[in-house]
Amino acid sequence: MKCLGCYKKIEKNEYCLSCRKKLFDGKRVSTVLEFDKPKPENISMYNEHSKRMSISGVQLKYSLKLVGKKLELCEKNGQYIIKPIPKADHLEKMDDAPENEHLTMQIASQIFNIKTADNALIYFKDGTPAYITKRFDVKGDGTKYIQEDFAQITNRTKDTHGESYKYEGSYLEIGELIKKHVPASMIAIENFFKIVLFNYVFSNGDAHLKNFSLIRNEYGEMELSPSYDLMSTIIHTPGEQDTALDLYYKDHESGYYTTHGHYGRTEFIEFAKRLGIIETRYLRIVDEFIKNEVNVISFIQNALMSCEAMQLLVKNLQLRLIRLR
Ligand SMILES: [Zn+2]
Repeated sequence: MKCLGCYKKIEKNEYCLSCRKKLFDGKRVSTVLEFDKPKPENISMYNEHSKRMSISGVQLKYSLKLVGKKLELCEKNGQYIIKPIPKADHLEKMDDAPENEHLTMQIASQIFNIKTADNALIYFKDGTPAYITKRFDVKGDGTKYIQEDFAQITNRTKDTHGESYKYEGSYLEIGELIKKHVPASMIAIENFFKIVLFNYVFSNGDAHLKNFSLIRNEYGEMELSPSYDLMSTIIHTPGEQDTALDLYYKDHESGYYTTHGHYGRTEFIEFAKRLGIIETRYLRIVDEFIKNEVNVISFIQNALMSCEAMQLLVKNLQLRLIRLR
């Protein structure tokens, strides 16, 4: 059988030692929770209020804390976030949502060395799966690191910018703010470029302003936070836009875009240049995605998605990689 954290082959039905260390301070936490899925009474309200058809608009999140070897639901001081299968009749293949997020996060960290929030798949008592992630903003003693997402940093709220405030602005704007706030920012900028490209390659069309954050580290310096909420949203919202934000202002006017109607290698290279990344570095990042195609596909085939969702993921991945060649 497989570890529900990293997919490594293991003997017993439990998280492997390395995942236990990352997620649960080494404790033998069961892969099955002792309670059923919480009843989401306010889901219809969620569905009504998400004007844009996005998965983030319908995902309910619950807080958990570790008490001994058991995970318990809690109101405050949560150390973990759990996301059950969202109830949303207007979105597709929702049963695959937890594993979609888990798989996408694992590809990011295991294959592309993107720093991500630690995560795994877990089951409720009734056997339905959920995505679980450990909060990286909570310290061991329960206090928090200061974290701000880019809607907060740019002072965009529902009141100032309307219902779709998370989808305003461009990735270049985020990059410029990283340069401004992060000391010795070039590594952070290159990582940011890699994440934006990752989201494109894996059809995450919902990487909006709130899905990128700066966090103050133990030395008091701001850094780009680990990645979170990575998933192939196209599986659930097939008609979505390719990216939640534009790469840069007027990027749709490039020759390639006007001919093909979508981004290709040209726009991402222009984006990297505008971020100030040197040629050898951005080419290495773009090539890393192209070179890992076979690797990624076998990783996906070893995961726990339904056959249909898996095929969609692979098909979309191949389409995006063609555009980057
Ligand atoms: Zn593991």
